[in-house]
Amino acid sequence: MTNLETSTKALRDEVTDPVCRMEVNPGQTRLLAIYRGHTYWFCSKDCRTAFEMNPRKYLDAKPAKRKGWFRRYLERMAKVDREQFGSVGPN
Ligand SMILES: [Zn+2]
Repeated sequence: MTNLETSTKALRDEVTDPVCRMEVNPGQTRLLAIYRGHTYWFCSKDCRTAFEMNPRKYLDAKPAKRKGWFRRYLERMAKVDREQFGSVGPN
């Protein structure tokens, strides 16, 4: 099993926030979640909450891809879109 090897290596230094793909230093945050025997670290409470709501959503994605900013950009766009549809402005 190479999964264990990979996670052990990651523990030595920085790990990747599975939600936003940001690099997190486990020594500098207590925002962690344990899922299926693996420990995951997060840059913020929001990321941890999102992960806890639906861990598989984030774990299914390939962590090797560094597209965090783009994903967040898309999510922000989608959110803005929803907010605009959800509320009717004064005009
Ligand atoms: Zn994050």
